Amino acid sequence: MSAAPPPRVALRRDSPLRFLKGVGPQRAEALAAAGCHSVEDLLWHLPLRWEDRRRVCAPAEVDRPGSWTVRGRLAELRLLRTRRRGFVIVRGRVAGGGAQLPVVWFNQPWLMDRFADGDEVLLFGNVRATEGGLLEMLSPAVHGWSEAGGEGGIVAVYPAVAGIGPAAVGRLMEQVVPVLAADPPSELLPDSLLAAWSLPRLAEALLAIHRPGPAADLGALAARSDPAHLRLVYGELLELQLELMELRSREIRVEKRHHYRIDEESRRAAREMLPFRLTGAQKRVVREIVGDLQGRAPMLRLLQGDVGSGKTIVAALALLIAATSGLQAAFMAPTELLAEQHFGNLTRLLAGRARVGLFTGSSADADRRRALAAGEFDVAVGTHALIQGGVVFRNLALAVIDEQHRFGVAQRRLLQAKGERPDVLVMTATPIPRSLALTLYGDLEQSVLDEMPPGRTPVATEIVPGSRRAEVYRRLRGALAAGARAYVVFPLIEESEEVSAASLEQMGTRVRDFLADSPSAVLHGRLPAAERDRIMRAFTSGEIRVLVATTVIEVGVDVPEATWMVIESAERFGLAQLHQLRGRVGRGSGASRCIALHGRLSETAGRRLEVFATARDGFAIAEADLQIRGPGDLLGTRQAGVPKLRVADLIGHREWLERARADARRLQPRLDEPELAPLAARVRSRVSSRYESFAGG
Ligand code: ADP
Ligand code: MG
Repeated sequence: MSAAPPPRVALRRDSPLRFLKGVGPQRAEALAAAGCHSVEDLLWHLPLRWEDRRRVCAPAEVDRPGSWTVRGRLAELRLLRTRRRGFVIVRGRVAGGGAQLPVVWFNQPWLMDRFADGDEVLLFGNVRATEGGLLEMLSPAVHGWSEAGGEGGIVAVYPAVAGIGPAAVGRLMEQVVPVLAADPPSELLPDSLLAAWSLPRLAEALLAIHRPGPAADLGALAARSDPAHLRLVYGELLELQLELMELRSREIRVEKRHHYRIDEESRRAAREMLPFRLTGAQKRVVREIVGDLQGRAPMLRLLQGDVGSGKTIVAALALLIAATSGLQAAFMAPTELLAEQHFGNLTRLLAGRARVGLFTGSSADADRRRALAAGEFDVAVGTHALIQGGVVFRNLALAVIDEQHRFGVAQRRLLQAKGERPDVLVMTATPIPRSLALTLYGDLEQSVLDEMPPGRTPVATEIVPGSRRAEVYRRLRGALAAGARAYVVFPLIEESEEVSAASLEQMGTRVRDFLADSPSAVLHGRLPAAERDRIMRAFTSGEIRVLVATTVIEVGVDVPEATWMVIESAERFGLAQLHQLRGRVGRGSGASRCIALHGRLSETAGRRLEVFATARDGFAIAEADLQIRGPGDLLGTRQAGVPKLRVADLIGHREWLERARADARRLQPRLDEPELAPLAARVRSRVSSRYESFAGG
């Protein structure tokens, strides 16, 4: 690459960032890696906060607590170490106008390298009154005066990006913000829509965020509830909703080729298969699914149902319909343990009516794959081994995915691609608050199992500090002596599963020694499949009475006779995960108990456990989890394929999500109208690039 300076041209919105002063090849590359290629990309790098420099004061003018912007010279800067290890304080004064104001910073030792006594600075922050009644500035943002960009106005402060610090980002913004006027980004939303919601146009909104006018409402800006932010939020959510609808319409546009035979005979087969009477909710959902199967477009349905609500039997009925119609079906689960359990159940349920094969990492051998391709299996149950390249179906018509939240959209599409427009049913036991469901699964029809099978008693839940562990295990010993079966769950403590397995073995040994009167076993993901299978069978039959396990039992494991659960280090689990774990007990008619042992609690961990102890309903728990953790964490890293929202916040902007959803429904059928052409073009190109690549053609 030549080191010649880039040509001096007027910046346009699509100009590459190396045209900016201060951006060399290296920075350009780092920015590109962070998703910033052009001037327009950088314009979406929004401020972290805004400083009010409309009134810059001398230290002499600061006469009461509150938020102040102060210009002066630093004096008496010194670093103080405290008794708490690693905790440092920088103290000093800022002087000017014949007065001095004390300043204190916590844990910012680097200030000592950056600034020295006598430096002229601009401080922005809170002034408080100390116990002695003196005023003191508390951890203010500090800029050297010469680089502060002068006084006046409301000044945006940017988050660092690609290793470029806030001040340097601010200087880049000086160059790109004028482009908003010179070459404004294209407006995708029709004026009529913006007018309906009283929102500004895109360029205007971006300008108001980067360079708020002197009359701007700082509180609203900080809360992202000003019209400018709401314009970006609405636009982002509207595009996303339209993408999901467009995606759905593409998927169901092509009629499926396969047909199911649903007649008196298959109904009788279904009745004979059922080991119990379906709940009202199960009947309703089965009807919804059968309706989809009989439709001309492929089914795309999400089945939500709390742990234990009985999703498996619903899926089994759909699988039976496929098999008795001479079609193949797949049932994919996230763990080998769960796949093995489903395989066991389905083999029993479908005996004599369907040939069921197991496809996991340790079982999907060449013979089995050949049999599947030849149509010798009607139902393939497995893990993601099912979506490997070597797995071929003869006529895959129905794909069921259990615990969908453990998979990404990409994996769903890979399974779909194993057939020709197969019907798809995805199931999840993580109830998703509506706001998230709309964002994640807006392209799916939704069914909800909102009724538990009869005879369940709520699980008595106790939150107990680790200091009372011995007492808890004594009670457990008593319950075991009376015939109970129990899970003891440990979190994955180490980064590596191997280390974790080792430490689990160790802790497990202690627990098992204490409970030596009852046969027990340790179960974790590193055990060979055959060994896991043997242990699960033994626990199911009651030969083993205590299962010391990692969260491998979190999803789907179903042993109705288990009525006790002890969760160790419960503070390490998320709320949804705790709820899933607890769902392993209380599945039969016996009264069940779950004891969450915890160590030191952070504030949020304390709140989580409080909610866990009192809430029973998975949807309520999911809502609470969303409030406590925020959507990013709730989805976890497993949610590959979830579009990242740049501005919108699913909690704070929930109301706007509903508005965008309603508008998208109204607009989608009209996307070909000229007024909507720019929006339609964006949505369609996004759908093609973001989703179609997974579809396998
Ligand atoms: P989940 O929705 O968590 O996957 P499962 O399908 O594993 O739940 O069902 C939980 C338990 O409830 C299983 O033991 C299952 O056999 C039982 N079950 C499901 N539906 C009914 C019903 N209608 N009546 C009685 N028991 C049921
Ligand atoms: Mg299940």
